[in-house]
Amino acid sequence: MSESSASHSSATDTTVDVLIVGGGFSGLCMGIKLLEAGMKSFLIIEKSEDIGGTWWDNRYPGCACDIPSHLYSFSFAPSTEWTRMYPGQQEIHNYLKRCVEHYGLVPYLRLGTRFREAIWNESEGVWIATVGDGMHIRARVLVSGMGALHVPRYPELKGLKRFKGPAFHSSTWDHSVDLTGKNLAVVGTGASAIQFVPQIAPRAGKLYLFQRTPPWIVPRLDFPFSEKWKRRFRSLPITRWALRQFIFWRQEIRVLGFLGNETFRKKVESIALRHLARAIKDPEMRAALTPNYQLGCKRVLVSDDYYPTLNRSNVELVTESIAEVREHSIVTLDGAERPVDVLVYGTGFRATEPLIGCQIVGRGGVEIHDAWKERMSAFLGITVSGFPNLFVLLGPNTGLGHNSVVLMIEAQVRYAMKCLKLMNRRRQCVMEVRPEAQGRFVEEIYRRMKGTVWQSGGCHSWYQDQKTGELTAIWPSSVVAYLRRTRSVSASDYLLSS
Ligand SMILES: Cc1cc2nc3c(=O)[nH]c(=O)nc-3n(C[C@H](O)[C@H](O)[C@H](O)COP(=O)(O)OP(=O)(O)OC[C@H]3O[C@@H](n4cnc5c(N)ncnc54)[C@H](O)[C@@H]3O)c2cc1C
Repeated sequence: MSESSASHSSATDTTVDVLIVGGGFSGLCMGIKLLEAGMKSFLIIEKSEDIGGTWWDNRYPGCACDIPSHLYSFSFAPSTEWTRMYPGQQEIHNYLKRCVEHYGLVPYLRLGTRFREAIWNESEGVWIATVGDGMHIRARVLVSGMGALHVPRYPELKGLKRFKGPAFHSSTWDHSVDLTGKNLAVVGTGASAIQFVPQIAPRAGKLYLFQRTPPWIVPRLDFPFSEKWKRRFRSLPITRWALRQFIFWRQEIRVLGFLGNETFRKKVESIALRHLARAIKDPEMRAALTPNYQLGCKRVLVSDDYYPTLNRSNVELVTESIAEVREHSIVTLDGAERPVDVLVYGTGFRATEPLIGCQIVGRGGVEIHDAWKERMSAFLGITVSGFPNLFVLLGPNTGLGHNSVVLMIEAQVRYAMKCLKLMNRRRQCVMEVRPEAQGRFVEEIYRRMKGTVWQSGGCHSWYQDQKTGELTAIWPSSVVAYLRRTRSVSASDYLLSS
């Protein structure tokens, strides 16, 4: 960390204007925009040993984005070098590393540093954060870029702890385990599983795929960019821009089906069903892979190799529920026992449990998990009443099922920067959203949610709070609507003080 980025009040204490937690797309975006605004007193703390967040954690075979990278990247840092429409984890991670270098973020990064707690000091108007092994960081502004799809969710299965072989989650893949010729059990058929199953199946002796609910899957239509195309992107930036626009609107229009336009939804459902029928000829298996809920209720997946993989003779799709896990096998409710050497969880993340493993104590000593006991909420998904100068990136109700969340992150960072500028202009140091504004926003979410596929599509999804069933993860509208909503900061929504 450079001396210019922070001042030290003691050997263990540091003071900065802005403390950013998380070195993924969100935290890095915030850092870049602070630097661009000439605000150099900030730190980004990241508990992992490298930046990248999702794109550092998830190194499973076949890990890739499912929104083309010409859109799934920062609008202000376009790359002409994407090798294909849906690049893999390594390429996206390299892209983020290039951004860190290009924008000069290295001196502001503290890797291997876990954020544990932040307490709002009322009299001084600062956050006092405890990080790592007990170091304190004093910051006027706290930005959470801690990610929603970050902490693995493990299935609750009887006997799981008895299993004697290697067992790991897709996001903590154990590459030291040789899968060749082994009996593999994969639990879950979500976005990660449909990427790694086609990669590992050819190596497996036998692969048992345990499915609870089949996902809707549409064709991926991935292809590499030739050198000729890359040259074109370099010499004619408008071509790159046009492609980004094309992808944006192609994705954006999909939201119509999710918001209640039945004709549109049915059209995409028929594309998905044709995709399934083309690959799976066995009627029984096709029936098992046909979703019984509306498209979009759970994340729609893209894949061209998942269905064909299920036709392999060494792959068995198991739809019977798991009764118990034993030392070297899995038993299903029908009594069948399958031998298993390696167990892989493709069971996703604890997406609706915010800020796992840390505490944020706001005004009056209220901890954020208590404030969110009934329902996790934030004004525009960004600011929280009772928690002054706190900005949450990809906070409640700002996830997407149809488009790139980097668009949402950028909108939120723009909004947070406008808040900081508003404070500067008005010579105020503290800004807190009024509870009425936050309440109105929650009402708006309920209103927008009515009639959407997330509310009435007939599924149970990770967009829903596992305890209350409330839809707290998804933004129930278009990206365009969110961009409009966050375009400007209305001072009347906030209490400003010095
Ligand atoms: C396999 C996979 C594929 C995906 N593909 C897409 C896609 O194609 N399109 C799309 O729009 N979205 C996709 N997503 C969603 C993806 O999470 C977001 O697009 C984006 O990466 C979120 O960035 P983030 O910085 O907000 O969070 P993250 O990338 O999760 O980063 C959060 C960071 O915060 C750090 N952190 C958390 N807690 C602490 C703490 N207490 N102290 C210090 N550091 C902490 C974490 O270590 C992590 O580095 C995908 C997600 C996964 C898992």
